Amino acid sequence: MAPNDSVFSLIVADPGLPRSNPTQSYWQHIPHALADIQSPDLPANRDFAVIGSGITGLAVTKTLLERHSTATVTVLEARTLCSGATGRNGGQMAANAGEQYLNLAETHGAETAGKIVDFTFRNLEKMQELIKEYEVVELSELQNLRKLRVFLTQGKFDDFKKSIARLEADHPSRRGLYTILDADAVVKEHGIHGTSGGALLPAGTVWPYRLVTKVFSALLEKYPGRLTIETHTPVESIEHTSIRASPITAIGSYVLRTSRGPLRASAVVHCTNGYSGHLVPGLRGLVYPFKGTMTVQDPENSVPNQGTAISWGFHYPPSCDPETKRIGYGLYYLGQSAKTGYFYFGGENARIDESVSADDSFVAEHSVVHLQSVLPRFFGKNVRSNWRLISAWSGIMGYSPDGLPIVGQLSCKLTERKGDGEWIAAAFNGYGMANSLLSGEALGLMILGEDVSSWLPMAYGLGERRLREALTIPKAISALNSKL
Ligand SMILES: Cc1cc2nc3c(=O)[nH]c(=O)nc-3n(C[C@H](O)[C@H](O)[C@H](O)COP(=O)(O)OP(=O)(O)OC[C@H]3O[C@@H](n4cnc5c(N)ncnc54)[C@H](O)[C@@H]3O)c2cc1C
Repeated sequence: MAPNDSVFSLIVADPGLPRSNPTQSYWQHIPHALADIQSPDLPANRDFAVIGSGITGLAVTKTLLERHSTATVTVLEARTLCSGATGRNGGQMAANAGEQYLNLAETHGAETAGKIVDFTFRNLEKMQELIKEYEVVELSELQNLRKLRVFLTQGKFDDFKKSIARLEADHPSRRGLYTILDADAVVKEHGIHGTSGGALLPAGTVWPYRLVTKVFSALLEKYPGRLTIETHTPVESIEHTSIRASPITAIGSYVLRTSRGPLRASAVVHCTNGYSGHLVPGLRGLVYPFKGTMTVQDPENSVPNQGTAISWGFHYPPSCDPETKRIGYGLYYLGQSAKTGYFYFGGENARIDESVSADDSFVAEHSVVHLQSVLPRFFGKNVRSNWRLISAWSGIMGYSPDGLPIVGQLSCKLTERKGDGEWIAAAFNGYGMANSLLSGEALGLMILGEDVSSWLPMAYGLGERRLREALTIPKAISALNSKL
């Protein structure tokens, strides 16, 4: 098969249901008390069915319950509570809008690009507010710090500096957000070797599984008659029936077929991220699964513990090894636990057929070995034996052809069903902690009829123009091919 054909087949494939036997993520090694929660019987009829119990499903659910006084909500989760990307990520609370700014401004104009920057930084503040409101600062091991982004080639560093210069020129209020450092400063002040330079920006790290499960449990306590959470309940298919859905408490016109029987709902909210295409066939190729690899490594005191001060991102030009066909996708991300000194290190080095995949039931050994061999070198250590591997796992992200999230109402063309009651927030392109919470909140408000256009970037919407020009399969193929 020609490369284009094989990339095409990968991105348009049905991602299927979340695999029932995922790799074990370090974050979930002590399951929450509600990990397997479900009602004795599935409720028969609800106002809202939210599919997916990650941070997006949480944000939508919370908004619907808080902003509507009677609405009933059921969260349907294929596996255990918060067992998708949110429970298996890198824990980095950092925006990427700065390095993307130039591209965004050229594509969408300075105003929209600025709005995306504002949205992501506001989302990070919202994460902090949520953590404080639900008193999970300790439990979620929130670390407020600065992220050190470093660039492993001069070309990457130059592109980054151009992007920040343009951001500051277009939006003077953002001056000072990024502090640029030369290669000398990166090694002398921060002990990171082999870079062409870097920059510091405000950021944080967190244990997202603990945050999300705690808030779900508080919502269950607060809204016992209005919220149920049904884990181990994959939604296998959705039908639209001709019963007319009247506003609230009527019989819903959607029937969700699950492994535990049917559930009726007036509206369906897809918070299924990398799996979106399974229930929304028209989205296949427009949101595609991308598999990530994470490790926890113990440097055993061979480097200082900087967990509360710094997290790291390592950027390099994507490239493909002609022999192994493994692609280095351009980014490694790193955080450190102040408590244990453990490093949380992730990044992709895998063949394209391994990466464009919704199968998190295994983690490729060579991807793990790669992460083990790379990490000590950034700290100037040429260790003979790798640092101790505490844990390694994989997880599934949702990617879109234009690199932006999708938030809005699904058309019948996309769902391939009748009805106007299906909604989605997905495709955070690896930056959920900087996008999902506010995207979910915006979606919840949109469902309730509120206007969020003053703060939700229009570029995240499902407007005709985006669907015609930016969210297209050829765009997705060319974005992936640029890495081959
Ligand atoms: C390895 C890895 C590292 C990452 N690192 C970072 C990071 O450091 N910082 C950052 O900002 N972002 C990171 N991300 C991305 C971030 O985790 C995601 O963008 C974010 O968690 C998405 O949240 P979500 O709720 O939309 O999706 P998810 O958390 O994936 O939730 C979707 C849920 O839907 C369920 N589901 C799917 N289909 C069905 C169905 N048919 N029926 C019932 N349930 C279904 C799934 O089981 C899953 O629990 C990373 C992701 C991965 C995989």
